Amino acid sequence: MKTQHVVVVGAGMGGLAAAIDLASRGLRVTVLERSPSPGGKMREIAVGGARLDAGPTVFTMRWVFEELFADAGASLGESLRLRAAEVLARHTWGDGAPFDLFADAARSTEAVGELAGAAEAKRFVAFCARARGIWQALEGPFIRGQRPSPGELVRRSGLSGLSGLARISPFTLLWKALGEHFHDPRLRQLFGRYATYCGSSPFLAPATLMLVAHVEQQGVWMVDGGMHQIARAMADLATAKGATFRYSTTAESVLVENGKVGGLILQGGERLAADIVLINGDAAALAARCFGPQVAAAVPPVPPTARSLSAVTWGLLAEAEGFPLLRHSVFFGNDYPGEFRDIFTHGRLPSSPTVYVCAQDRGDKAPTVGPSGPRPERLLVLVNAPARGDLSFPDAMELDTCTARTFAFLERCGLTLRRTPEATRVTTPADFNSLFPATGGALYGRASHGWSATFDRPGAKTAMPGLYLAGGSVHPGPGVPMAALSGRLAAQAVLADLTSRGR
Ligand SMILES: Cc1cc2nc3c(=O)[nH]c(=O)nc-3n(C[C@H](O)[C@H](O)[C@H](O)COP(=O)(O)OP(=O)(O)OC[C@H]3O[C@@H](n4cnc5c(N)ncnc54)[C@H](O)[C@@H]3O)c2cc1C
Repeated sequence: MKTQHVVVVGAGMGGLAAAIDLASRGLRVTVLERSPSPGGKMREIAVGGARLDAGPTVFTMRWVFEELFADAGASLGESLRLRAAEVLARHTWGDGAPFDLFADAARSTEAVGELAGAAEAKRFVAFCARARGIWQALEGPFIRGQRPSPGELVRRSGLSGLSGLARISPFTLLWKALGEHFHDPRLRQLFGRYATYCGSSPFLAPATLMLVAHVEQQGVWMVDGGMHQIARAMADLATAKGATFRYSTTAESVLVENGKVGGLILQGGERLAADIVLINGDAAALAARCFGPQVAAAVPPVPPTARSLSAVTWGLLAEAEGFPLLRHSVFFGNDYPGEFRDIFTHGRLPSSPTVYVCAQDRGDKAPTVGPSGPRPERLLVLVNAPARGDLSFPDAMELDTCTARTFAFLERCGLTLRRTPEATRVTTPADFNSLFPATGGALYGRASHGWSATFDRPGAKTAMPGLYLAGGSVHPGPGVPMAALSGRLAAQAVLADLTSRGR
């Protein structure tokens, strides 16, 4: 029987996971990637002679990668050195001592008690139980399964009846639900911020997203050599299983023959035959005709108003003084509703941004800055931004204002960063839009706003036979592990279809 040729377009998390699974099952796999290296959003950049992670920095759900590697006959532990963080993140509201959340739930409860009193600590415990319950209800039937319709989800999960549905809180807004759990506005803000992990506003996302808090409590891992090593290890594994990688190669259009996928045209005109094409670019790129006219209707378009958050990031090699940064530190803005109104209603950079700083040379415990005092260290500074990069957003003036505002705010919170232009690399929504076409710079596919938005993400199968999707814009959603899971679901869908066709 003929060996099927699968072409995976994109070496992001979803594409790499799918390539590993499909190559392990004996299919001929070619991965096309327009960048010179794997990872997609999990990219590494050069700044001031150093290399630093400029994409994801918080690594959770390690089990997704353990299963992926084990199923391919490899070991994650032998491929990457991972260390569990004791402190998940440090938080500040500008005054008072920083507040740390720990991997150990008892320590976090104690810390909440110290910050906001014993009654709030009790409410925190109840919140954790609710977040765990949502996770448990959704892990099997939603997160590990092919995209369900709302009705299918209810059937699969046995959540029938109002009490069952109440367990996953789809009809309550996250912000409202958090108000029931936390009386201290700081904690409401802290746990509301988890909506941004899915590129969403805490004020518009469903309470279901509480499950992100549970995911983080299950462990945050630090990767020796940086997050980008995960992508490299995945590409190495796929190669060991027989996949071929072609970097700096752009797919320009998908060809349809006799009503199904027949191959691709690459930039430069090369024609590549394929039985199956699996797109790891953003699903929005299909309707925007980035893959040619023949597959433009394979999935519904994503209107710009449905886009998730973008970001402005500053990759720095700089000296940091004052505030005792840990690996992950969050500086909360003082007008949280205003921040998301600016972004989602007015389409502008927030006048009171919440700022995330990843200090990549630091661990999760002591606030060390090296044996000889302050020295340049690798930092990624990030603020949320509207996904309007396709409109050349932001212009130079808006960016200057945002930069001044962001670093002045950090300074007010006690953190001085001695930046130099030579050791600074800024990435804006416009830059993200050119890296990830047709997104406007949205980094997480569609925003999860309202109870049904999550069902609007496409699944692995498209309306075009032979065309499949994987990645953060696809079910089960964004984030490193979820995008990898989507790749595994796409591989499963391909294999199931091939089996049912008798190959
Ligand atoms: C700044 C930032 C911070 C983040 N922080 C976190 C975090 O802390 N934790 C977390 O879990 N997640 C985080 N995320 C989200 C996470 O990085 C993504 O959800 C995930 O990596 C997306 O993977 P993906 O499978 O969608 O592929 P992508 O990363 O979107 O990669 C798709 C690939 O397809 C390629 N491609 C597209 N079109 C073509 C074409 N025509 N031809 C060839 N190649 C093509 C692109 O070049 C790209 O490499 C962050 C993202 C960013 C940008």
